[in-house]
Amino acid sequence: MNEVKTPKKPLIYYYVIVLLVLMLFNWLVSPALFSPKIEEVDYGVFLSMAEDKNLSEVQVTDTEIVFADNGQPPKFYKTGRMNDIFLVDRLWDAGITEFGSPIVEQMSPFLSAILSWVIPLVIFIVAGQLLSRYMMKKMGGIGGMGNAMSFGKSNAKVYVPSKEGIRFSDVAGEDEAKELLTEIVDYLHNPQRYAEIGATIPKGALLVGPPGTGKTLLARAVAGEAHVPFFSISGSEFVEMFVGMGAAKVRDLFKQANEKAPCIVFIDEIDTIGKKRDGAGAIGGNDEREQTLNQLLTEMDGFDAKKGVIILAATNRPESLDPALLRPGRFDRRIPVELPDLAGREAILKVHAKKVKISDDVDFSAIAKAAAGASGAELANMVNEAALRAVRSGRKVVTQADLEESVEVVIAGYQKKNKILTDHEKMVVAYHETGHALVAALQTASAPVTKITIIPRTSGALGYTMQVEQNDHNLMTKEELENKIATYTGGRVAEDLIFHSITTGAANDIEQATKLARAMVTRFGMSDDFGMVALETVGNQYLGGDTSLACSPETATEIDKKVIHVVKTQYAKAEALLKSHMKELNALSQYLYSKETITGEEFMGILSQMEQKQDEAGEKKEEKEEP
Ligand code: ADP
Ligand code: MG
Ligand code: ZN
Repeated sequence: MNEVKTPKKPLIYYYVIVLLVLMLFNWLVSPALFSPKIEEVDYGVFLSMAEDKNLSEVQVTDTEIVFADNGQPPKFYKTGRMNDIFLVDRLWDAGITEFGSPIVEQMSPFLSAILSWVIPLVIFIVAGQLLSRYMMKKMGGIGGMGNAMSFGKSNAKVYVPSKEGIRFSDVAGEDEAKELLTEIVDYLHNPQRYAEIGATIPKGALLVGPPGTGKTLLARAVAGEAHVPFFSISGSEFVEMFVGMGAAKVRDLFKQANEKAPCIVFIDEIDTIGKKRDGAGAIGGNDEREQTLNQLLTEMDGFDAKKGVIILAATNRPESLDPALLRPGRFDRRIPVELPDLAGREAILKVHAKKVKISDDVDFSAIAKAAAGASGAELANMVNEAALRAVRSGRKVVTQADLEESVEVVIAGYQKKNKILTDHEKMVVAYHETGHALVAALQTASAPVTKITIIPRTSGALGYTMQVEQNDHNLMTKEELENKIATYTGGRVAEDLIFHSITTGAANDIEQATKLARAMVTRFGMSDDFGMVALETVGNQYLGGDTSLACSPETATEIDKKVIHVVKTQYAKAEALLKSHMKELNALSQYLYSKETITGEEFMGILSQMEQKQDEAGEKKEEKEEP
């Protein structure tokens, strides 16, 4: 795709450069061009040339003699005028009868100024104008004669579709979004098919989803697929210094779009201009933004969709958009662009892995599993981080280890190379993390541990236990949630059991556990007393308003009590689990302490080995007791 951008440098730079070129031109080139070269020679040379009658023209002034030889064309010389009383005789002998009038044409200062300054300047100005007009034409007439002149002009970029443009195949996953967008592209290609049936072509579609999920990328892919002009502008570009300019830009954008129809207009991050209007209440408020939004609404109503102008917009925050924008006839289509699932993550990793040299045995699905919850942008970043890491360690290809590391880098912050933990702290952290992992492992319905580390991260975490769901979970049972809470408490439980003192290290765990417990009570209807009543809703982006029960203070107190109860119960459960597995807790913590980072397999290996021994010991005991 060729992206033709508005020239960033105003034309004033062009003129400054032209002026410099002209000055140089006047110093170096112009004398040679406009007046013949005159060689300065000794008086003797003049004398001998006069002797040889090798003179064609001569001009004698008060201070010097300028003369030309007989050559074709004549060469010009000059020499200082000596006190030579025979000068006139010599000239006469050489056949020169006229020596008073100028032989080298001296241009009048006025004429020379015109020739060397004005004419080139005019040429440059005309060239400059032609150039800028040509560029504007190429860009569909949009854009810029420098800042001062571009107020009120939209500086939308136009993507000219071309073969190397971004296509739908560059966007991994997001099949639903692609399908909906394909339909839109089809409207533009076969408008008559829709017109025959009498279907109204949608005017606008809104790409909605969390940041980094590929909304902008999808829009650019549409540009690559549609083979129509594609105007792209970001909402923030409408926000101008002067009141009324945003609205003028909107007007200009739609004027251009109407001229170029069929075409696509893409407004990225539309929430910057499309926020809910405050109404008359706010004095002054954000008048400019409101005007811009109003203009956008007016324009969207005004133009005829049959002409084939389709407006795409993208936003992370659809809930903040003015409802007027979402009315039928405006952005009536919603295209959800969600965070990728397991398969989607794998596909995205593969798309980006094509851009780097990657070892053949890389297991993308393992990486995708570890990167649960990552957005497309984060996954792209992971691949790049892995490539950087490969370069740092002097390798030619990216390996599995690089990718694994970069997952952690992106998710949990860089590994801190310098140790900041004291030995005792390290031991506490080892027990804490083992506590998490062991509680997780000892419960049935909880995600397996894949990695435990006590290497501090720049994110502030001193250790880190990574659990990976086997498959993407859409539904979680009450038991799974409870187990999760128990796992969160496991760290603190271990600290308390071993050191009989507790640390601040569990702050994040406490927060997570509380959040989950609260959600169970208020949102998932998982408490006996409240049942299926929404006591709280998340600001659901795709639903709109809050539908929860308005809680009375008594209910709120009750909720708090319930939440505390849930967490306490799970804490007790975790405590019981660890108390009955003290041997394992000690052994695993010591192992983690010595190795700093262990994999899930190592962890499970040691654990099952110990359990086996225990079983054998138990069996032996039973055998002894039997007789
Ligand atoms: P958004 O506009 O939704 O915030 P972007 O479209 O700007 O996100 O995505 C940022 C980058 O993330 C893209 O340039 C691309 O490299 C990567 N990316 C995101 N989603 C995908 C995807 N589905 N397939 C491939 N790359 C993706
Ligand atoms: Mg974007
Ligand atoms: Zn913890």
